[in-house]
Amino acid sequence: MKAPKFHFIRANSRQQTLELLEELGDEARILAGGQSLMPTLNMRLSQPGTLIDINKISDLCGITLEEGVVRIGAMTRHVEIANSPVVAENLPLIAEAMQHVAHHAVRNRGTIGGSIALADPAAEMPACALALWATLAVESINGRREIAAKDYFKGLYETARQPNELLVEILIPKEPPDDVSVFLELAQRHGDFAMAGLACVGRVSNKVFEQLRLVYFGSEDRPTIANQAIDSVVGKVWSTETSEAAADALTNDLDPMTNLQGSAAMKLHLQKVLTKRALETAIERAGEFK
Ligand SMILES: Cc1cc2nc3c(=O)[nH]c(=O)nc-3n(C[C@H](O)[C@H](O)[C@H](O)COP(=O)(O)OP(=O)(O)OC[C@H]3O[C@@H](n4cnc5c(N)ncnc54)[C@H](O)[C@@H]3O)c2cc1C
Repeated sequence: MKAPKFHFIRANSRQQTLELLEELGDEARILAGGQSLMPTLNMRLSQPGTLIDINKISDLCGITLEEGVVRIGAMTRHVEIANSPVVAENLPLIAEAMQHVAHHAVRNRGTIGGSIALADPAAEMPACALALWATLAVESINGRREIAAKDYFKGLYETARQPNELLVEILIPKEPPDDVSVFLELAQRHGDFAMAGLACVGRVSNKVFEQLRLVYFGSEDRPTIANQAIDSVVGKVWSTETSEAAADALTNDLDPMTNLQGSAAMKLHLQKVLTKRALETAIERAGEFK
């Protein structure tokens, strides 16, 4: 199918974009990499009156490390993040997750801002943002707002960003060198959206998880922290029994949805499998697996 008719505006600056968003509101859509937006237009799942292309706005691109925080511009493409030494060194969770984001052609165009703005429940970057205590910075003509990832993802493709706001950057505290992180995902083919997935960040000492964050994606309507599973592990000496207990506790944390990727029961099963693998891998990466 072909996309419905729309007006097209190539914005030259942030300010111009913000003014257009204020004027057009929900009638307009930002065009970033177009890797999700264009298919939805072609399938007539969305019919915005105007597309605002932000590809020429260079100050929305780039990755820097400032005072322990990695700042990633919204228009930074997946491929740049995958190849970034700053990300590899300071955000190993994201470096690992990026290997699962789509295929090369999509990664060459798709942007982290597009992924976080869209909030697909099976996407990797929203889960990483939540696991790593990221802050999402949005701007409107009224100024800038910084939203903690835990308050940003509201539901299925639903976020705290308002229609007149542009997502401008993602701020992520660097992972402390003593922490370990593990990213696992199950998809029908490598690069497809996840059926089930887990971003795990923690600190291990003498086989005890002193801190742990488990964020699941692909099964719920948004990235989800599993507090009961976390509580069942933190402070206890890790063993296969603690892993089993965490997997059991997950039943109380998750309420998977059935969709084209699989049934709710299968997704819960897969998330439990990933939980056990992630905890064991974290222990291994902490150098404490004997
Ligand atoms: C075959 C295929 C496989 C894929 N597999 C995966 C996968 O495994 N994992 C994954 O995470 N993604 C996957 N994707 C999606 C891909 O990662 C997209 O690049 C991403 O979801 C959206 O980024 P984009 O820059 O292309 O955004 P666009 O498609 O341009 O925009 C997406 C939405 O976000 C809005 N938007 C974009 N940028 C901003 C901004 N700065 N501020 C406000 N709103 C904004 C747009 O208006 C639109 O509603 C896949 C896509 C394809 C086609």
